[in-house]
Amino acid sequence: MTTSMAKNEKGGKPEGFVTEITPRSEDFSRWYLDVVRRAELADYSPVKGCMVIRPYGYAMWELIQQALDSRIKASGHQNAYFPLFIPESLLTKEAEHVEGFAPQVAYVTHGGGEELEEKLVVRPTSEAIFGTMYAKWIQSWRDLPMLLNQWANVVRWEKVTRPFLRTTEFLWQEGHTAHETAEEAEAETLKILDLYSEVCESVLAMPVVQGRKSESEKFAGALRTYSIEALMGDGRALQAGTSHNLGQNFAKAFDITFQARDKSVQHVWGTSWGVTTRLIGAVIMTHGDDSGLVLPPSVAPYQVVIVPIPRGNWQETVLPKAREIQQQLVSAGIRVMLDDRDMYTPGWKFAEWELRGVPLRLEIGPKDIEKSSVLVARRDTREKAPLAMDGLAASVRALLDEIQANLFARAVQFRDERTQRVSDYDAFKTVMDGRPGFVIAPWCGSAECEAQIKTDTQATIRNMPLAGSVPSGGCVRCDNPAQAEAWFAKSY
Ligand SMILES: [Zn+2]
Repeated sequence: MTTSMAKNEKGGKPEGFVTEITPRSEDFSRWYLDVVRRAELADYSPVKGCMVIRPYGYAMWELIQQALDSRIKASGHQNAYFPLFIPESLLTKEAEHVEGFAPQVAYVTHGGGEELEEKLVVRPTSEAIFGTMYAKWIQSWRDLPMLLNQWANVVRWEKVTRPFLRTTEFLWQEGHTAHETAEEAEAETLKILDLYSEVCESVLAMPVVQGRKSESEKFAGALRTYSIEALMGDGRALQAGTSHNLGQNFAKAFDITFQARDKSVQHVWGTSWGVTTRLIGAVIMTHGDDSGLVLPPSVAPYQVVIVPIPRGNWQETVLPKAREIQQQLVSAGIRVMLDDRDMYTPGWKFAEWELRGVPLRLEIGPKDIEKSSVLVARRDTREKAPLAMDGLAASVRALLDEIQANLFARAVQFRDERTQRVSDYDAFKTVMDGRPGFVIAPWCGSAECEAQIKTDTQATIRNMPLAGSVPSGGCVRCDNPAQAEAWFAKSY
């Protein structure tokens, strides 16, 4: 693909290249798929609903993984690995859990040329297998808390799929913990919610709203589910991560007991929590523009691309200088791509790396070398300015920090401009018909009311912020006393 475009575009205008992406305003969903494909993040696989994550997309995942993994470990958790297959009988032990996941489960019925005595489930999530092992490993209060995490793939059979956002197989981390008391389990659930929020905001530059899910939207088998919700560029909400307080539901189903400090035998209190490769989709839809990806420096596989300007004997003059600069930046811990391919024009390279969202581009030609400077172009603002070669690594680092902060500020502003408070149902419907975004409204807590709002407007309760005050008025739809202030939106 790159090769054929190169032939067409060699010596041509970079603009022609970029029109390959459908404009965001014209068709957001088409734009998204174009960006995923053209930026070489992922491709479709021969199995419907599954995707191949290409190196550029996988490099983003590795950066997200590292950010999460270091924080998960720093907060006292250890990584382990549990198997892909779960005997069907284990999944059915927790009634709500099996009911919730049944429509999405894939089974293995044959192995080694023979029909299996018991069907195996390809894990849709791992509470059942963690629960089974925890029942073996936990005997005493001294074994608690047990704080494990695993990086794994899971399979949930989906009818409608979209790369990164909803795929039949996806990658994630799933934490599973067991505690002595209800309070500890609740504290763990919320601690992880904070951890996820911090990664989304400081690494992905994506603001999130923390809150509790309604009963109808909670995890199958959980006591309470909390989520973080972000607003995408088309005004739809995306659930970016969930943390569940499982109470004693799984402990009772899997018989996970321990001898307490007072010598009584008790069930543990559990939590589970996860974020997935969906976060890559979130980054694309939070920051991208009509020219393609816009990556926050913290998750950019290349934070800087150096494009040498081929004039005269550039390979003897410009190229060595470009390599020297690359080395300087790499030594300073910056991820750099030096695009020294001679079959592409600088214009073609500019458009290509813009499309792939590289935060900073450094152009260097004979004139820049004479002036001992480089020309720097920002992806977020498209501003261009000369930068002195002297102290370049420090000024590049400062610019990357500025871009990271700017992208976050921009996303906060976008979300705030599309978040409104309403208390009247006609106003609610009008808002949902118009420009999408978050609507904060009082809700009575009834599932019927929630379902009716969804039927009328397609909007669902994303969550109910923890800090939200209980509104004094009536529910936005039925006017019964409100129990919570809920954040509504159309969502992915
Ligand atoms: Zn109501």
